[in-house]
Amino acid sequence: MKILISACLLGAPCRYDGRSIVSDASLLERLTPFLKNGTLVPVCPECEGGLSIPRSPAEIEPKKTAIDVLEGNAQVLSRQGKNVTAEYLKGAQITLKRCQSMNIFRAVLKEKSPSCGAHSVYDGTFCGTLKSGRGVTAEFLCLNGISVSDESVLSDLCSQLEQIA
Ligand code: SF4
Repeated sequence: MKILISACLLGAPCRYDGRSIVSDASLLERLTPFLKNGTLVPVCPECEGGLSIPRSPAEIEPKKTAIDVLEGNAQVLSRQGKNVTAEYLKGAQITLKRCQSMNIFRAVLKEKSPSCGAHSVYDGTFCGTLKSGRGVTAEFLCLNGISVSDESVLSDLCSQLEQIA
């Protein structure tokens, strides 16, 4: 069994600001063996899509959803107004291909990200306001049969992996 995971959740400094999201060092330590043995497959869709580290933060435009982006009816825009939709779509496609080539049917992704958000994303105003909805990659994976969770499941997932190891 392999599980896709947002790379920043495993300590990769790939966020827009060049940081990772390590809030629980002991959990990261427990997860590390499963990264090393290939059970956890890290990916950063925004980097795969060609965006740099660091990069300007971006959000799905206001009143639109990831489905709108995937259908060509909305854009992902940086804070400066640069259209980065193509990079987000490319990242989603590469991530799905990786799942399909590695028989991965489950993903644990970083909540609130315009790529990885599983349940909520920022609303496009760059004011820090969240709304319900998925990021572009999370939505694309869901539409293609991949089960997507946010990082709140990581502790339980780690316990499950430790039991079957
Ligand atoms: Fe993390 Fe996903 Fe953002 Fe990459 S795109 S930094 S993996 S939340």
